[in-house]
Amino acid sequence: MARWVLRNGIYCGGIEHKMGIHGNSTCQMVLEDAVGTMVGAPNKGLAAMFVMMNAARLGVGNQSLGLTEVAYQNALAYAKDRIQMRSLSGVKAKDKPADPIIVHPDVRKMLLTAKAYAEGGRALSIYCTMMLDKELHHPDEKVRKDAGEMVALLTPIVKAFLTDNGHIATNACMQVFGGHGFIKEWGMEQFVRDNRINMIYEGTNTIQSLDLLGRKILGNNGASLKKFGKLIGALVAEEGVNEKMAEFINPLALLADQMTKFTTELGFKGFQNPDEVGAAAVDYLRVAGHLVFGYFWARMAQVVAGRNCGRQHRQVLCRQAADRTLLLRQALPRNRDADAHQRSGSKVLMDTDAALA
Ligand SMILES: Cc1cc2nc3c(=O)[nH]c(=O)nc-3n(C[C@H](O)[C@H](O)[C@H](O)COP(=O)(O)OP(=O)(O)OC[C@H]3O[C@@H](n4cnc5c(N)ncnc54)[C@H](O)[C@@H]3O)c2cc1C
Repeated sequence: MARWVLRNGIYCGGIEHKMGIHGNSTCQMVLEDAVGTMVGAPNKGLAAMFVMMNAARLGVGNQSLGLTEVAYQNALAYAKDRIQMRSLSGVKAKDKPADPIIVHPDVRKMLLTAKAYAEGGRALSIYCTMMLDKELHHPDEKVRKDAGEMVALLTPIVKAFLTDNGHIATNACMQVFGGHGFIKEWGMEQFVRDNRINMIYEGTNTIQSLDLLGRKILGNNGASLKKFGKLIGALVAEEGVNEKMAEFINPLALLADQMTKFTTELGFKGFQNPDEVGAAAVDYLRVAGHLVFGYFWARMAQVVAGRNCGRQHRQVLCRQAADRTLLLRQALPRNRDADAHQRSGSKVLMDTDAALA
């Protein structure tokens, strides 16, 4: 006897045409009188979904980290190969009709920015992975709890800072290719397009910044941030008088100072008017991201300066130090800009309905 199975009322309503990630098909799923099956315990769905969402947010940050790295590697190879004009400070490649573009300061700035973001992102990502291991497997309950809090604090930074950096880095690396960057054949424009969604899905980067500032920092009176601040304080105390470390420790201490002032000020303002938090959150996350990266860049420099670092290892790490110093120096004025935006407050945004009419 034939057995008829009725099809459930759920089907694909059409494949979306997207700006990027063409290797992954996105579709609308239409539900018409569909029958669902409950997964897990009743009324625990949102909590379960956030376990998935937090993992996905770390994953999306890592997607951008990969794009930052591959864009950098391609741009570096191109900059060594492509010849165009002469170096401002005198001919560098005498055997060639022009110098490779890597001699030009601005090309180097673009490459070093991408490289520093890739290195900082890698360190942050590895640190989060270690914290996740501790959260899940450490025998001591307090260590598990502390590690979980650290991952919770850093998750919106991984998601938003790494994906915004991916936007900056893939665009800079495309720029290194000049006109070739815009042409599909070289593959650079694809990195820019593929990265763009990372700033949007799994909660836009604005939502991440509100999560960081509103929930994770002001929501618990800065307790988790203070824990990260303790790591920075310990490093500054340990290396504050080490001249070899000054170019990392001094800007890091300044960044930490900026962050403390920024947070305290926003805490007061946000208490009186929550729109102040909304107006400042995106800038705040950039400052926090640079502070976190500054800590990891300094930790890497500490390994180089340390006695136990082997010669070969030291050579590799020394080659990496320049880009991070550059970005730390650039981060300070950028953070002052972010602070200035914050100080301009929400009034200028919220009282200008006429301008948006
Ligand atoms: C390719 C692709 C794949 C996707 N895959 C999935 C998937 O697998 N599963 C899934 O569930 N979803 C998926 N999405 C949906 C995606 O997660 C959402 O598009 C994204 O989270 C943003 O939500 P939204 O589109 O509703 O934007 P909106 O929430 O409408 O936001 C629009 C704008 O307003 C801003 N905004 C909104 N609320 C606030 C606020 N309170 N404060 C300040 N600014 C605010 C946002 O930052 C944004 O700039 C996918 C989307 C795309 C494009």
